[in-house]
Parts: sequence; structure tokens; C-alpha cells
Amino acid sequence: MAEQKISIAYEHPDTAQTSCSTAHAWARKPREPEPAEKAELIARIKRLLKEQDAVLVSHYYVHPDLQDLAEATGGIVSDSLDMANFGHQHPAKTIVVAGVRFMGETAKILNPEKRVLMPDLEAECSLDLGCPIEEFAPFCDAHPDRVVVVYANTSAAVKARADWMVTSSIALPVVKHLHEQGKKILWAPDRHLGDYVQQQSGADMLLWQGSCIVHDEYKAKELQEMKAQHPGALVLVHPESPRAVIQQADVVGSTTQLIKAAQNAPNKEFIVATDNGILHKMRTLCPDKLFLEAPTAGRGANCTSCSHCPWMAMNGLLNLAEVLERGNNEIHVDPAFIPRAVLPIKRMLDFAKQINLPTRGIGNA
Ligand code: SF4
Repeated sequence: MAEQKISIAYEHPDTAQTSCSTAHAWARKPREPEPAEKAELIARIKRLLKEQDAVLVSHYYVHPDLQDLAEATGGIVSDSLDMANFGHQHPAKTIVVAGVRFMGETAKILNPEKRVLMPDLEAECSLDLGCPIEEFAPFCDAHPDRVVVVYANTSAAVKARADWMVTSSIALPVVKHLHEQGKKILWAPDRHLGDYVQQQSGADMLLWQGSCIVHDEYKAKELQEMKAQHPGALVLVHPESPRAVIQQADVVGSTTQLIKAAQNAPNKEFIVATDNGILHKMRTLCPDKLFLEAPTAGRGANCTSCSHCPWMAMNGLLNLAEVLERGNNEIHVDPAFIPRAVLPIKRMLDFAKQINLPTRGIGNA
């Protein structure tokens, strides 16, 4: 299949929180290589990673080939927290990030001396796109009494404006910690995760109104129907999903936490409300269990309602091999932002250590 280019609508919130406008971005899906070509590409990538002293760090939402390759070559497949931690600790001179742009930027902020490459630099995220610094900075300025906590899915400039950066696995402990200290919080950009954390912590939180185009699509009524058809299934939900979906969950958590729940629960069936890229890892670890995708608005479908992130899908074997060969697609972060942007990330990594939140660094991956 030839490369496909698709248009994606995402919500672009106004900061007065009275309405949302819809903006458009695009993604291109790389061609899927034929089996013989695939074997040759995998061998070539393995050789290039060694030659270039490079490590591959993949997210759970990218193509299964890239997940398997990361693990087979001493890299990691994981969530944003582990990816940041692993890349930071690994001695390789080059980090190749198979994910979306903010993940590459986070790797670069933590490792300014290293070369960070990505298969496609235009792999975006609706949360990042929906929180431009030109609008976010005045929002923060208008609320100087609040601690600014931003999700990892933001630009380097937004991180540089924040006090804390969090991922979904650590968002709740961080906000609880701040709440216990009597702090009020300004949260950005995901409104559903912010709402979930607010509900769980009781903290005073002012929420930016961004959303993930994948998780925003999960539908509560259809999920209820699906649960009725699969009464023995455990429902695993990522907290970027709408509140009415989260309320039906047996387990709410980050990708890593949902995978662990799938491994540990005695159930044989699971309904999973997060990007379907995660099913590869779940099925590999639990081959005797059945994993079903939670229902989206997929009937009548557009590209955002297929339970798979179109920007994560921009990562493939072909562009990975090309980037290693040519050394193109290097991530650059404005050096002026780095000293400030690294602070909220390091604060999160230190806090994770302090509360013994399990992360997978070198040696225990
Ligand atoms: S799945 Fe959602 S949050 Fe993750 S990169 Fe894609 S748009 Fe962003």
C-alpha cells in the first residue's frame, strides 16, 4: 500500500473555556513493507543501530514491528515516563524515538548532548497542538497563585513555562502531594485526565480544555452495551477518556499500569479503552486471554475514531531505516528553553524515585 495522507480534526480550546473551535492537522501513514522487504529492513536497522551507537525507544502505541525491534535491540517499549527515564540513563550517543514529537523533545531536553532522531518529525499530538505557548503563557500569567502542572504531551516551550511535568502514571500522586501542601493547580492540557485527577484528589484545579483525539472518541453507552455482552470482561481505561467511560472502568491507569492489570487479573476477557497499539504487548504477554477494543464513534468512522493514533502510525520500518542511514529528522530544541524545560521533568523523575514509583531504567528493562 502506498503512503496515505489523512486530515485530522482536533479541538482547539479557547482559554475562556466557553467554547471550542476545531482545528485541522494531518498525518501520513507509511507504506507497509512486503514480508521479504520487512526481514531485510529489520536486519539493516539492527546493524545501523549498532554502527551508530544508537538505542531505539518505542511507545506502546507504535506499530508492533517497532515495539519488537526496540526490545530485541536492547532498547525499550513503554510509556512516556519510562521512555524519558530510559533514554536519560542509557549510554548510547543517539536515541531514536518511535513515538510523537513531544517524546523526542523530552528526550532531547533530558539529553542535550545526545543526538535524538525520529522516524517522522511531523508526528504530532492533538494535546500538544491544542496548547500553543502563545495562548498558554497568558493563561498562566492570569493565574499567578497556581502551581502549573503540565502533562508530558506538550511542547518544550510549554514545559519551560511549567512548575511540574507529569505523565499519566504519576499525575495523581503529584497532584495529591501538591494538594496536601495547600497548593492550587493550573492543569494542562488534557481536560479528561485533569478532571479524573481532580475527582480523585479533591484538589483545586483549573483545567485547560485540550483532548486526545483517540481517547475522546470512546463512547459510554456503547461501552455499557459491550459490557452486557461480555459480563466476565475486566474494563481497562486510560484516564484521557471521557468521565462517563472512566466511571465504567474496573482499572484506570497509564499504559504500563493497564498492561500490568491485564497480566495480574484472573479474568480471561478484557475491554480496553486506549490506543489499540497496546494490544500487541497485552496479547504477547497474555496469549491465553482475549482483548477487545472499547467502542468508539467508529460506526460512520473517520480516521480519529478507529482507536489508533494517526500520528503514532507515522512511525514505520521504512522511515526508521532511512533516518538511521541519513541521520536526518534530528530533533532540535531551542537551547534557550532547555535549562528551564528540564526542571519540571527532573522534578517528576525525582518525585517518582522518592515515592518508589516503579519505572524501568537501565538494568531492569
Ligand atoms: S494517542 Fe492521543 S495523546 Fe497519544 S499521541 Fe496520539 S493524539 Fe496524542
